[in-house]
Amino acid sequence: MEKGLLIVISGPSGTGKGTICKKVIENSTDLEVSVSATTRKPRIGEIDGVNYYFINEEDFKERINNNDFLEHAFVYGNYYGTPKSNIMNKLNAGISVILEIDIQGALKVRKSHDDGVFIFILPPSLQELQKRIVSRGTDSEKVISNRLKCTKEELEFAVEYDYVVLNDDLLEATDKVRKIIDVEKMKSHRNIDLVEQIKEEQTCTKYR
Ligand code: ADP
Ligand code: 5GP
Repeated sequence: MEKGLLIVISGPSGTGKGTICKKVIENSTDLEVSVSATTRKPRIGEIDGVNYYFINEEDFKERINNNDFLEHAFVYGNYYGTPKSNIMNKLNAGISVILEIDIQGALKVRKSHDDGVFIFILPPSLQELQKRIVSRGTDSEKVISNRLKCTKEELEFAVEYDYVVLNDDLLEATDKVRKIIDVEKMKSHRNIDLVEQIKEEQTCTKYR
């Protein structure tokens, strides 16, 4: 069985990463989004263990010391980390895993998993980004302003990614991410076992 893909998705806050990820995995049995741990307080409607594992700073630091994270970073004033447990098991079982993480985290994952697929989600404009983050209605003005201040610097890193997907129309953007995953799965170096398996097959003696 071919291994699952490790897919990393980043982009400015409010660009639609979470929304796209949710749609991309809809009705999929071999694609999951990893649940990160964070010291950020839950937003209204967020559920522990579903959106994030919400933990305090002391627990977070203990997990760093225990080497529990594949990567972790301090983002917009809070700690975020990708739990290691399970990810490798899932990849080995042929399940692809999406990490929706910030740029610092993505660059770290690139170093340890250079066969990962790195996708940067771009907002259609800075004005639309601002509109989206405000209309999401989950963050205070101070938090929104702090996040938007980082946007231009974050955009500088888009070139470090394998793909850039413009999230103008949500369905189009979702479809593009799905297509990237499908194309990546067909790359020859990911299909060596499949080729070998077919080569080993016994054909009718008449034609051997
Ligand atoms: P991120 O995870 O990148 O911070 P979200 O997925 O939370 O962003 O999206 C921010 C807001 O923008 C949400 O209210 C979401 O419904 C909205 N949104 C996402 N994609 C689009 C889109 N293509 N067009 C209009 N609104 C969108
Ligand atoms: P939010 O608070 O909006 O959910 O996330 C803030 C930022 O943290 C986003 O850029 C998101 O991608 C990033 N993030 C979420 N989980 C992780 C993680 O496990 N590691 C890293 N490095 N960033 C994360």
